[in-house]
Amino acid sequence: MDLNEIKKADEKINSFIALDREGVIKSSGAGGLAGLTLAVKSNICVEGMLTSAASKTLENYVSPYDATVVERIKKAGGRIAGMANMDEFACGASGETSFYGPTDNPSARGRIPGGSSSGSTAAVAAGLVDAALGSDTGGSIRNPASHCGVVGFKPTYGVVSRYGLIDMAMSLDQIGPIARDVKTAAVLLENIAGHDPKDGTSLKLEPSFYGFSKKLNPWLKGRRLGYAKEFDSLISDQGIKKAIRAAVDKMSSAGAEIVEVTLPNLEMALPTYYLNVYVEFFSATRKYDGRRYGHKIEDVCGEEVLRRILLGNYISQKEYSGKYYRKALQARSVIRKELLDALDGVDVLVGPTVPKLPHKVGTRIDDPMVMYAYDIFTTPVNLAGLPAGSVPAGKADGIPTGLQVIGKPLGDQDVLDVMHAFEQL
Ligand code: GLN
Repeated sequence: MDLNEIKKADEKINSFIALDREGVIKSSGAGGLAGLTLAVKSNICVEGMLTSAASKTLENYVSPYDATVVERIKKAGGRIAGMANMDEFACGASGETSFYGPTDNPSARGRIPGGSSSGSTAAVAAGLVDAALGSDTGGSIRNPASHCGVVGFKPTYGVVSRYGLIDMAMSLDQIGPIARDVKTAAVLLENIAGHDPKDGTSLKLEPSFYGFSKKLNPWLKGRRLGYAKEFDSLISDQGIKKAIRAAVDKMSSAGAEIVEVTLPNLEMALPTYYLNVYVEFFSATRKYDGRRYGHKIEDVCGEEVLRRILLGNYISQKEYSGKYYRKALQARSVIRKELLDALDGVDVLVGPTVPKLPHKVGTRIDDPMVMYAYDIFTTPVNLAGLPAGSVPAGKADGIPTGLQVIGKPLGDQDVLDVMHAFEQL
């Protein structure tokens, strides 16, 4: 699609904040991404483009530089169509907190596409682009992939450079690919992954770690897939429960061995995640004081961002840190250990991506816990720094839902393999 076609098709979806109308994004035209058109989430810096994180705070921020992932996309010949809509500063699970208005779900019109990588995912689902970059702090790639019926992958923490990503919570954020099939996601991933001296948390790995798309192995026979017994009681939607059960049965019929594992403190993931996020997000937003960039964040931001800043500020105060933050860090290591124990002896875990179906755009949600509940199965993965992806697992009530595959640290290839294998069944 050319930009005019994208613009026209996007009128009802609102997946883009800014298209590259002036042709400021130059790509080499040759390389591993040649021929692919991409969308970039608006919290990833693209030189010459509005990189607003969908907030009024940065409504005039045109990035003077490229994030490492963008530099690599250009070098690999990918064509970036523009900047995708998202939840404000990546805080949300519905796409509705954007200053630029909500995005529609192309696969279930009138419903939220999920978030926070709402626009990136909707643009892929609507066929406006071949693939997109999202960021995932607690599920923001996998959650919308599930709701929109596409593929989303969050790499092991440190596999993809965060240089040029507007932080939400530094110790959890990872950039990753969204596409309509696993192969395209793997191609995008291998072109953006790799050590980056500009990011202190970026990992230096053997060359054999990469080359994901060529290594994709659709073989399920003999694979050991863990399924946590706690999943079932935490899926609130019966249709999702059925779809996930059917997905697991299908893989078992294809020769995979399903192993029951346990994650006894899975329910602790949400409070643990949000306490960690509040503190890190508060600290990340201190630079938006109105002097360096645009507006002072507290003066112009939406309700959810403000809630996180106020709570983060409160929790960070010295007298409370022992009470909340230190406990949250301890809980984080408990969750990490439980996941690693569950993964010991299996290749990957499989289960639901989300516990419930996407609500109708504009539904009034007064209790933030109702929105946070979408993140129950995705946040533990970020707390543990693991790789995980969501792959379409059919529909519940006509609405797509995804199967989540979770891997061991640096087991990115295993996750992609199982996603790819499932996609072929
Ligand atoms: N929904 C989660 C949150 O609001 C996840 C967001 C994300 O991954 N960026 O924090």
